[in-house]
Amino acid sequence: MLEVQARLWYTSAMPQELRAGIGFDIHRLVRGRRLVLGGVEIPAESGLLGHSDGDALLHAVCDALLGACGLGDIGDLFPDTDARFKGRDSAFFVHEVLARTSKAGWKVANIDTIVFLERPRLGPWKRAMRDRIAALLGLAAANVGVKAKTMEKLGPIGGRRAVAALAQVLLVRTK
Ligand code: MG
Repeated sequence: MLEVQARLWYTSAMPQELRAGIGFDIHRLVRGRRLVLGGVEIPAESGLLGHSDGDALLHAVCDALLGACGLGDIGDLFPDTDARFKGRDSAFFVHEVLARTSKAGWKVANIDTIVFLERPRLGPWKRAMRDRIAALLGLAAANVGVKAKTMEKLGPIGGRRAVAALAQVLLVRTK
């Protein structure tokens, strides 16, 4: 009897099946391009070079989702040699990736991100970026983190020649 109870307790207390994923991306910062981060256009002197809109943050989000499910990476799915993806809004990639992770039986529990850039300061834009990522992933804003870090003027990011982003995601099994 005790054994049965113990087994029932163990079964009910078992955690849901979870997967964690990480994603990273870096893009060159150049004049004559728009600066789009987290799906939000930010007024700036320079923007991110890329085959798509260069949104390093959404690219990191995509890679975190794909990595958690063992579905490869954004370069596998959307090669930068493919003309179909030229100038693409990176929200398109997030939609496509989310469709794949959902089909594989996973939903997002939460996502946390960091953007590394020297200028402009992202303080005034962080809420809009968080809300945009939440909307793209179908999450409450409380389940999305967007943080910004400077590199204290060190290296290519600190020298305003690049912007990088890191994302970590937690997925929960749905089926
Ligand atoms: Mg990229």
